[in-house]
Formats: sequence, structure tokens, C-alpha cells
Amino acid sequence: MDKGSEELSAAASGRVPGRAGFDFLVVGAGFAGSVLAERLASQLDARVLVVDKRPHVGGNAYDRYDDAGVLVHPYGPHIFHTNSSDIFDYLSQFTRWRPYQHRVLASVDGQLLPIPINVDTVNRLYGLQLNSFDISAWLASVAEKRPAIQTSEDVVVSQVGRDLYNKFFRGYTRKQWGLDPSQLDASVTARVPTRTNRDDRYFSDTFQAMPLHGFTRMFEAMLAHPNIKLMLATDYREVEELVPWRHMIYTGPIDAFFNYRHGKLPYRGLEFRHVNLPQEQFQPVGTVNFPNDYAYTRVTEFKHLTGQRHATTSVVYEYPRADGDPYYPIPRAENTALYRRYEADAESMANVTFVGRLATYKYYNMDQVVGQALAAFRRLSQRHDDQHLLDLGAVAKASRAVAA
Ligand code: FAD
Ligand code: UDP
Repeated sequence: MDKGSEELSAAASGRVPGRAGFDFLVVGAGFAGSVLAERLASQLDARVLVVDKRPHVGGNAYDRYDDAGVLVHPYGPHIFHTNSSDIFDYLSQFTRWRPYQHRVLASVDGQLLPIPINVDTVNRLYGLQLNSFDISAWLASVAEKRPAIQTSEDVVVSQVGRDLYNKFFRGYTRKQWGLDPSQLDASVTARVPTRTNRDDRYFSDTFQAMPLHGFTRMFEAMLAHPNIKLMLATDYREVEELVPWRHMIYTGPIDAFFNYRHGKLPYRGLEFRHVNLPQEQFQPVGTVNFPNDYAYTRVTEFKHLTGQRHATTSVVYEYPRADGDPYYPIPRAENTALYRRYEADAESMANVTFVGRLATYKYYNMDQVVGQALAAFRRLSQRHDDQHLLDLGAVAKASRAVAA
């Protein structure tokens, strides 16, 4: 057994007699860190210290009541959706839910039109009367043939053609990423489907719901286990050498962990401008996208998401930025290549597990991060089980030796 596995199994086996401190140091109290802390504490009886440099739990999914008393998401709108009943069931231990199906309109040519593009989008934009049967042939007539779908431009023009691409995707993407869609992996715009029906929901997942009392309350319930201690407003580097621990779960940016030794990984930043308005409702749906006008990409009105009733309303404008806090990994080949170098370093560190959107440089939604954290937990506990069997084997061998 390598040294790393030894350390890990000692950590995963829970409290070690005669040794003070924590079995796990979890860096980051977002989805990745909170799921792992909860699983390690509740399933392996491990002692866990969770450290976050922000003064609150929840990572980017943190929500809070603003000064007017409206529940808002300080780091941008977060809507939960998943096709995985396992992930939904897991989170349901910590919250009840409010069903919510997100709808988005895009401001194009003076109209507010449904996005993802559907039959109504096309009819209203071009003054047509296509039905679900006609639309496929119509789309095929405007679509551009591409030999291979590699970039975010390929994805869209091969489905809806140049004009819809220019009106709905090109400007938005250039604003959001500071790059042309032709410079981004196909996976980015492939997040937004094209519909040949009238479904105007932004997501089509089986489970679409918001935590009934908000994300922060859900995180508090996850972290409420007596084996979990929480240290907020603390960079892990301030305590990693002060507090004894055996295994680290790291959920911050991977390049920062390695002191940028291969160079900085590009992340896209955002500035959020939050506004409270003295009116009950501001816009007809949760989010309005502005692909072609203004410096912001979209405006979200939180009361649609949360269902809260209040005499005033709160909205957030998102302004993409090249710097500031890292919010999005930027999916393109050269960045993935740089990430692979960090990933190789990460794999050589037996006593640190890297999980989450920033630590694995993946453009993941919340549910995908939960799934990734649950998978990481299964791997950690498997190594724990293997070690447990080895330990039992050693005890049996030792007792046989004593008996002989
Ligand atoms: P994070 O939430 O980023 O948590 C990492 C934590 O680590 C942070 O709290 C950070 O403070 C802490 N940390 C970093 N470095 C250190 C350090 N040195 N010391 C201590 N702590 C440190 N997903 C959806 O499913 N639906 C949505 O609608 C949605 N909307 C989004 C909108 C925006 C604007 C953004 C940016 C993301 C959105 N997401 C959405 C994605 C979602 O935010 C992520 O999938 C999820 O929050 C990632 O969780 P995480 O734990 O990996 O990372
Ligand atoms: N996108 C676009 N126009 C839109 C909506 C999305 O061009 O009206 C593109 C854009 O590149 C965006 C990507 O599709 O970054 C993914 O959109 P999504 O709404 O999933 O972004 P997120 O909510 O993660 O910011």
C-alpha cells in the first residue's frame, strides 16, 4: 500500500486514538465541499473541518435576504434542475422543495422572444405560422452544413442557421466570454437546445425545483452534523499548518492550489449589480437575456425563482469581466491542455482530493457537482473499505501467529 492510501485509510477510519485534530480538511463550503463534509461525517464518522474564505456557506449558490427583505442570490441566479433521482433524493434529505420551471425571454429586434429557440420564437421573429410539423423542414432549409461540430458556432449554425445565430447567440457569447463562439468548445452553446415544439421552459430536466427556504438553509442543514466544524472568512492557507488533518478535499481553483506553477488558468469573471425596485413585478419571466444590447448579458428577477411575495422586487444585472473572482472555467482546447497539466499534479497528491467546478475546471451545474462529490465520496469510502479488509487480514494473521 502506498503512503497516500495509508494516510487516507487512517483518515477515513474516523478518529485515531491519541491523535488530535481532524480527519479531513475541506476547503470550500459550496456544493462540492458541503456534500463531501456531510457524507464523510455522517457515513464514516470522520471529523471534518470545513474552511471557506467567504463569510458564509453555500459557495456561489449562497442566498440571503437583501436590505428590503427580498431573497436574492448575491452571486447570480441559481436554478436547480437535474435528471438524476439519486441526486434529487440525496439533497431532499436537507430541504423541502418548491416546484419551479424557469422561463427566459431574449430581447431581439424589439421583441421579447422565447429562448431556447422554439416554434413560437421563429414564428414571432419572422411573422410565420409554422407548426411543429413544419419547423424541422424550415430549420433544415436555413441550417448551414458543417462537416464536424467542434465549436460553439458550429453547434448553432448547423441547427438554426446564420440569422438566428447572429440574433440570439453571437452577441451574447462574445459578451459573456470575451470570445467569438468559433473560439469556444461546442459544449458551451450546446447547453441551450433548439426545440421543434412550443415548450418554452429553459430546462427540460425531470426534476426542476428550488429549495423551499433557499439554498443557504439547505447548506446549513447539510453541515449541521456534530462531527463538522466550520471556519468561515478563513483562507485554508491560514490554518493548514496550524490545525492537524490527514486528508484534504480541495474545491477552490486548481491553479491557485499549485501557486500557478504552469501559468494562470483562464476563468471568466462577472460583476453583479443588484437593484431593489419599488414595484411588485419588473419583468414577465425569471430572466430576460440581452444578446445584442447593453454591457450586461441578462437580468433576473428573483421573486419568480423563489415564489416570494413582497411589495418590492429585486433584480440582478450580470456584467461579464475578464478578472475578479473566478466564476466560469472557459471551455476551449488550449485551456483544457493547461488544466491537464494541473490535473496530473493533482493526481500525484495522494492526500488531497480535488472536487468541484473550479478544482476540476469543468463547466458544471450544481447537480453535476453534487454527482461528482458523491462519486468522490464513494471512491474515498471504497479505499477505506479495502483498507479495513486489509486491517482485518492483518489482525487475523497476527492472532494466528499468537495462537501458534
Ligand atoms: P463554489 O460554489 O465556487 O465553491 C467553492 C468555495 O471554495 C467558494 O465558496 C470559495 O470561497 C471557496 N474557496 C476557494 N478558494 C479558497 C481558499 N483558498 N480558502 C478557503 N476557501 C476557498 N448551476 C445550476 O445548476 N443552475 C444554475 O442556475 C446556475 N447558475 C449559475 C449562475 C452563475 C452566475 C454562476 C457563476 C454559476 C451558476 N451555476 C448554476 C453553477 C453553480 O454555481 C456551480 O455548479 C456550483 O456552485 C459549484 O459548486 P462548487 O462547490 O464546485 O464551487
Ligand atoms: N447563450 C447565448 N444566448 C442566450 C443564451 C445562452 O448565446 O440567449 C450561450 C452563451 O454562450 C452562454 C451559453 O449559451 O454562455 C450557455 O448558456 P447558459 O444559460 O447555460 O449559461 P449560464 O447560465 O451557465 O451562464
